[in-house]
Amino acid sequence: MKPSFKVALVVLGFVAVLSWKTISRTDSALQTKEVPLLPVTHEQADPTTEFPDRFPLQVAVLWTSPDTSPENPLALVHSLKEMGIPFLITRNLGQALKHRLVILYPSVDSHTFNQAQAEQLTTFVRQGGYIFAQNVFWGSLKDLFGFREFEPSRKRYHVAFAGTDPVMKYLNRPEERETRLGSESYPEIFWTNGYIPGSGAVVLAHFDDGSAALLTNTVGKGGVYLLGLSLVDVVLRSQSNRDFEAERHYVNAFEPGADVWMLILRAWYEAYANDWVRLATIPQGQRSALLLSHDVDWENSFAPGRDFAGIEKANQANSTFFIQTKYVDDANSKAFFFEPNLGILRELKAGGSSLGSHSVIHSRGFNKFELGSGQETYATYRPRGLGFDTASGATVFGEVRVSKELLDGEILGQDTIFFRAGHLRVPVSLPEALERSGYQFDSSFTADDVLSNFPYALPWGLGFDEDSRIYEFPVTIEDEESPGFAKRVPQALEVILANAENGAVSVLLVHSNESAQKAAAEQELLRQLPHDIGKSDMLSFARFWRARDRLKWSVTSSSVPSEVVLQVSTEESVGGLTFEFQHPISAVSNGATLSPDNHHVVLPELKAGQAISFHLSLNR
Ligand SMILES: [Zn+2]
Repeated sequence: MKPSFKVALVVLGFVAVLSWKTISRTDSALQTKEVPLLPVTHEQADPTTEFPDRFPLQVAVLWTSPDTSPENPLALVHSLKEMGIPFLITRNLGQALKHRLVILYPSVDSHTFNQAQAEQLTTFVRQGGYIFAQNVFWGSLKDLFGFREFEPSRKRYHVAFAGTDPVMKYLNRPEERETRLGSESYPEIFWTNGYIPGSGAVVLAHFDDGSAALLTNTVGKGGVYLLGLSLVDVVLRSQSNRDFEAERHYVNAFEPGADVWMLILRAWYEAYANDWVRLATIPQGQRSALLLSHDVDWENSFAPGRDFAGIEKANQANSTFFIQTKYVDDANSKAFFFEPNLGILRELKAGGSSLGSHSVIHSRGFNKFELGSGQETYATYRPRGLGFDTASGATVFGEVRVSKELLDGEILGQDTIFFRAGHLRVPVSLPEALERSGYQFDSSFTADDVLSNFPYALPWGLGFDEDSRIYEFPVTIEDEESPGFAKRVPQALEVILANAENGAVSVLLVHSNESAQKAAAEQELLRQLPHDIGKSDMLSFARFWRARDRLKWSVTSSSVPSEVVLQVSTEESVGGLTFEFQHPISAVSNGATLSPDNHHVVLPELKAGQAISFHLSLNR
């Protein structure tokens, strides 16, 4: 090296040290990849055209909300899609009653039907039809739905299930037999309607005041189920984290408070549909999946990541590392998004791990940040944590966009589409910031907090009106709560098993700040995991879930007796899609495979845009 060059390096180094004090020692060194700001897209399709009548097995949703003030069916759409139940939405009673299973949604009052239609409904049930409804208020339908009176209240906080009924098939655990609607620290929560049953009706769940929350009535060859609350409040409100602190734990426990209502719908469908078929929640015919993840949010959290990746590899698994792209020093930590840490990330990715963003400054105040302009870039974005939960110069867009800019710029082949907020703090603008910055997936809630263990479409603005294009994968088990993950492996396994019984998933978050104890604990968990529970990194499973959620499918009979035709069309490439059948299948076509129990058909790898049919022989 020439002496003059050496001098130049020393001078450069001196300048760098000086500027580190004010900005960062890596400030000018990082590579970026531009993150285009996408326009807001509202896919406001009419639900009746989005979910058309296509085959007899579909559950017919009669959308009863008046045109003038349409209460949208989003909560029910979430429930049916997540459970893999085929359905259509219509405003036409005659069309709905051509199907054996009908859901009246969101309510029935004296304006919904005329007297002739009430008689049509009663005849439908007498002749073997099944109706599931919530909030029926009309006197003319009291006999059909099996109630004498109802009492509205905003002071009911608990639901307890009682007795046995086919719709409670999946409610076997104490956490499922009793759920909480809200915390009693609120003088009032959402409206519920407690029913007084008529003679012959059977009460399946009570509110705390003894009134019926769920009842069933058998009429002729069919029957009805009536719910005294709305899925908006027990499913969608929880998923948007607008609940009245209904959760009994924050993390690391089994909390199915929203899931029980979806599982009741699933069990209702499986009890009363003829020759039912369901799109399974888990790929490859497995019972459940454990999704592995690590948060890298400290300067010493990079190197131990190799140990985690190593034990995962040894257990035929991979994980997703969520990386904090800390390039500024602030009150919370020094910058650490530079070499050799970046080299470790490249190594992890090359080894099969996937990478997501864990924000830039990892602020406890992230949920209170302004959305920002969407023009934030690494060149100009200079956020700083100031104290416990305060920051300057930080925005939601900045945290989301600049971290992606850096990860995509520094790691070859990286396209960051998965996000997890620091401290799991979630601003209401997060779905917008993520969607407009090209993300697809988020894992910033805990499953206990949103009372659900199934992935779901994250509503825009964390509201009740429409979905964003982001899917949420809430964290089930983490490593930091006392007495620490290493001492909680049996408890974690129990939660995973409880979710597996429902076909739900479990998400594991282990910080990679040390690997001596935590990697051993993860190794022990993986070793004890039952063989029918899959292990996956979060990104691979999320891609599966997105394709599954957008899949169009139908099952119809063919000209051959005892044969059905399963037709699917997928927007995205996907492997392992699984359909569950009530009756055993004896033969499959077109590269599909049959699980050992003969009730699950696993489809071959499908290409984006592919439409394909499978002929399946039923063994009735
Ligand atoms: Zn973190």
